[in-house]
Amino acid sequence: MATQLTDLSKLCVHTITTKPWNIEQCAEEFGKAGIGGISVWRNTLEGLDIGRTGEMLRANGLEIVSLVRGGFFPSIDSIKRKEAIEDNRLAIDEAEALGSPMVVLVCGAEPRISLEKSRAQIRDGIEAILPYAENAGVKLAIEPLHPMYADTRSGINTLGQANDMAEYFNSEYVGVAVDVYHIWWDPNLEMEIHRCGNHSNLFAFHICDWVSPTLDMLNDRGLMGEGCIDIKQIRTWVEEAGFDGFNEVEIFSNKHWAENQHEFLEKIKYAYLNQS
Ligand code: ZN
Repeated sequence: MATQLTDLSKLCVHTITTKPWNIEQCAEEFGKAGIGGISVWRNTLEGLDIGRTGEMLRANGLEIVSLVRGGFFPSIDSIKRKEAIEDNRLAIDEAEALGSPMVVLVCGAEPRISLEKSRAQIRDGIEAILPYAENAGVKLAIEPLHPMYADTRSGINTLGQANDMAEYFNSEYVGVAVDVYHIWWDPNLEMEIHRCGNHSNLFAFHICDWVSPTLDMLNDRGLMGEGCIDIKQIRTWVEEAGFDGFNEVEIFSNKHWAENQHEFLEKIKYAYLNQS
């Protein structure tokens, strides 16, 4: 059984979830709502003093859970692969300045090469940035993405593949972000979640729901309870695997972004306590 969620101290909301709000609005509104954590998308930091932004978030009572996102390593163009590594180093710098302990990696894929080759380039990319991450004290969380994104967004599509990659590096700075949206369908899910925990690689837990029918492959994620994912079951396995960090609400939704965001945040709080 999943533990009963009785308060919002372990609720984290991604800034992309309330995309119409800028980072100041997120800080103020999440803080006022009593939400414990925030995961910051890099687009919200553009043009800002990142160190001061981190202070502003903490002054609103928010723990910074992660910076989203690095990755996108594969390309047929070697210059683009080098640029990706530079951009990942920049993301690590930004995480350090912000006071975020972790960068989430959406690993990328190149549709003009095989998935095997994309995966080799992902491994090379992580290898290239790992010393930099270790030096900065910033962890890297590999997020497996649903196979519908295997063309361009990620060649890492199952938790098993993410576990393989994390175990290959065998570093306390490389682990996995488990997002229910991407892995809920996997018949090996329970086993792979336990494996992830056994290797101390379970770094993050992202929640939302799979709406049926899904109208948009990217921007039609549901609020917990709106879809078909058994989030409580998955959270049970995640907790059994030793994870006691934040439940991060990460929702891309044209429908929810069009709503009044204050009302949406109230729905998130309710769904977190009752539907997840
Ligand atoms: Zn996620």
